[in-house]
Amino acid sequence: MKIVSGDRVIYKFSPDMEAITTVSPGDVFKVETNDCFYQQITSEEQVLTEIDYDRLNPATGPIFVEGAEPGDLLKLKIVSIDVKDRGVAAVVPDEGALGDQVTKPIIRVIEIEDGHAIFHGVKLPIRPMIGVIGVAPLVEDGEWATDSPWKHGGNMDTTDIKAGSTLYFPVGQRGALLALGDCHAIMGDGEICFTGLEIPAEVVLEVDLIKGKATKWPLVETDQHTMVISSGDDLEEAIYEAATQAVNHIKDSLGIEWEDAYIMASLSVDLKISQVVDPKATARAAIPKYVIPTQKLIESI
Ligand code: CA
Ligand code: ZN
Repeated sequence: MKIVSGDRVIYKFSPDMEAITTVSPGDVFKVETNDCFYQQITSEEQVLTEIDYDRLNPATGPIFVEGAEPGDLLKLKIVSIDVKDRGVAAVVPDEGALGDQVTKPIIRVIEIEDGHAIFHGVKLPIRPMIGVIGVAPLVEDGEWATDSPWKHGGNMDTTDIKAGSTLYFPVGQRGALLALGDCHAIMGDGEICFTGLEIPAEVVLEVDLIKGKATKWPLVETDQHTMVISSGDDLEEAIYEAATQAVNHIKDSLGIEWEDAYIMASLSVDLKISQVVDPKATARAAIPKYVIPTQKLIESI
């Protein structure tokens, strides 16, 4: 299996990135990812203002996918996410959903034992996820720092981007140019305090292409749902985009009028918060597979 080393990283997703390696549809490969601080934090005594802020959110890549062209969907099955046995969480003044209430910065180094993160005596079962994952944007979307989510993916901080899930990205450039990083051992929806349990990881992916089917935003497929992951200046805007796409997918897949699709969405689609702490907020609209199987949803794009 090909291993993509974590020492080649990007800090922005741009249309003209240069690939460091190549994979082909059907390949299974492993990507080493760095934590969002590039492992600069190793102790609770460190001062947050002394870390190099130019090295935040490194994403390993870009990885060129043979045959990917603008207008295709990049399909990525997350086979596994193996996290290290120690992670970092932090509180930063003025950051997070309650930034105005923070009185001091703190760092917490949290150990993982037998699949549980141990914090203040509480055993939290880990649920590893990928925070930053995306492809080169379309030229008209411009470049995006890796700390932001947008239509190309990026810092979506979505708990359903986990082992067993399958991601679908609209390909913006030839070769797709995939990059990823910022795994979390565990995080709650919303990422309230501005970090998850930030941790280096080894991610195994299986790559495929769906030709000539482009979505506006990334999708993530779980056991029970196909979710549209959208971002905006605030949660309202993110939800509006995700709901719009979900209703359109239902309308197109079932061949019903928009207003009936709107009702169908109201009866069955769950709107979920991904994160409210990054430069753009992210939400997802989860369409049950009993309403539309994922394959049918994609075929009707
Ligand atoms: Ca993140
Ligand atoms: Zn993170």
